[in-house]
Amino acid sequence: MADEKNFIEVFIDEDLAEGKNDKRVHTRFPPEPNGYLHIGHAKSICLNFGLAEKYGGKCNLRFDDTNPVKEDIEYVESIQEDVKWLGFDWKDRLFYASDYFQKLYEYAVKLIREEKAYIDDQSVEAISGQRGNPTKPGDESPFRNRTAEENLELFEKMRKGDFEEGSHVLRAKIDMASPNMHMRDPVLYRIKHAEHHRTGNEWCIYPMYDFAHGQSDYFEGITHSVCTLEFENHRPLYDWLTDQLAEGEYRPRQIEFARLNLSYTVMSKRKLLQLVQEKLVSGWDDPRLPTISGLRRRGYTPESIRNFADNIGVTKVDGIIDMGVLEHNLREDLNKKAPRVMGVLSPLKLVITNYPEDQEEWLETVNNPEDESMGNREIPFSREIYIEQDDFMEDPPGKYFRLAPGREVRLKSAYIIKCEEVIKNTEGKITELHCSYDPETKSGGPQSNRKVKGTLHWVSARHALEAEIRLYDRLFKIEVPDDAPEGEDFRSNLNPDSLKVLKGFVEPGLKGSAHGTNVQFQRLGYFCVDPDSTSDMPVFNRTTTLRDSWAKQVKM
Ligand code: ATP
Ligand code: MG
Repeated sequence: MADEKNFIEVFIDEDLAEGKNDKRVHTRFPPEPNGYLHIGHAKSICLNFGLAEKYGGKCNLRFDDTNPVKEDIEYVESIQEDVKWLGFDWKDRLFYASDYFQKLYEYAVKLIREEKAYIDDQSVEAISGQRGNPTKPGDESPFRNRTAEENLELFEKMRKGDFEEGSHVLRAKIDMASPNMHMRDPVLYRIKHAEHHRTGNEWCIYPMYDFAHGQSDYFEGITHSVCTLEFENHRPLYDWLTDQLAEGEYRPRQIEFARLNLSYTVMSKRKLLQLVQEKLVSGWDDPRLPTISGLRRRGYTPESIRNFADNIGVTKVDGIIDMGVLEHNLREDLNKKAPRVMGVLSPLKLVITNYPEDQEEWLETVNNPEDESMGNREIPFSREIYIEQDDFMEDPPGKYFRLAPGREVRLKSAYIIKCEEVIKNTEGKITELHCSYDPETKSGGPQSNRKVKGTLHWVSARHALEAEIRLYDRLFKIEVPDDAPEGEDFRSNLNPDSLKVLKGFVEPGLKGSAHGTNVQFQRLGYFCVDPDSTSDMPVFNRTTTLRDSWAKQVKM
């Protein structure tokens, strides 16, 4: 897929071939700072910055901050952090639609002067009642034919704060019979007596998205304004507005693609905000959320997200991508990068009775069999170790190749051991295993290749570091969380088992690992060091299990 051009690139090639816009390619990523970015935004970021890279062009970061009520500086900051973390650089081109409030106002005045816009004194409800429907033309507003002078005066009053919210709007004067509903005298400005996080109380009128967006593109010299499909019907308005504003040949071109939807999650900022506010998750960076900050905390790498965005391509048809595809790209990247270490999540004590009590040795083991350059390290071995409770069965069924009474297994990078005795407490619960080891089978030694069926991970009890392990699973039980029973919503589909917290043991070399460090606990999955870790107690988030159901499905 990577070599084939997508339809957006085909459009850009056409524009370049025609010599449009001085053969420039200039894109932008225009988030509204009303929430944290999610994986859908990541798709858009990779696409916009990626196109700029591919064509030797530029990509701006622009905050579409035209709705003061929902926006916040916290979001502005998190968005910049996330874009940088993904590996993109807007250089000196960080912009805000609010920087253009004055210019937009002047442009609106120009439209009024040219009798292409008017003040409507009706309520928003009355206006929408007159819009008609796609087969029935709308009714013209009784205020449509005001003189330019009267409109200018009213607009000035709107700006000065003489009117109440909802009492007046500025509308474009286009065509109430247009088959495109967006062309039926759309609202350009509304009154909002609200403080803006950047412009304070300077303004009490704010431009609508359609008015601010295309004009901001124009002011910045954007050539290709990539957005999602729901704006396809807005394109004639986008073009109409930029045509009125434009003085020369230059025009930005709006191109729509299908937004990314992922199974087993929700992506709308409104719903994510609801989960955060109702404390159904721990915050915007909860590792179960599809937010970029959540994915980062979960242990996703920027490369895995960028590869995912590239691999899924761009289309014109809405669909749902399987969460397994994202996880597949994650595993591919972590497989190369994450060192293999040992950690025991549900410890069972195992005593090697013929190993001297005061002895310990450091055994060499490979950090990543996929990458020799990652080298080796040494891990401590001693008489008492922990293995996984699941790795022992007193009465095993057929095909169980792990430890059982009288059976032998290999301890990874150490020795072959044999289970000699099972110790239980008064309630009959297994408390420890007594085993013997065969010194000849030491890893790398003469009999190290002796055949046994199972290999277990383990940690030396005396040396191990206690750790909190957070096992994350999908946040929702079903593929499409919005499919909720009558009277309920997506929240009724939350997965009650999406987080399990355990106390386990990990090898001592992990002490003091930096937050965000990715490792693979052998046989268990990929884990990442959480910022909640302390110097005494590391916290590991399970990023993902090792099983890649998607790879099997598509035979990658
Ligand atoms: P949401 O609907 O999730 O609240 P939004 O579209 O309102 O998101 P914006 O901040 O306006 O969020 O989006 C910034 C950019 O990211 C826009 O260009 C938008 O088209 C794009 N974008 C948002 N969601 C997705 C998605 N799921 N897939 C691809 N692009 C997206
Ligand atoms: Mg939006």
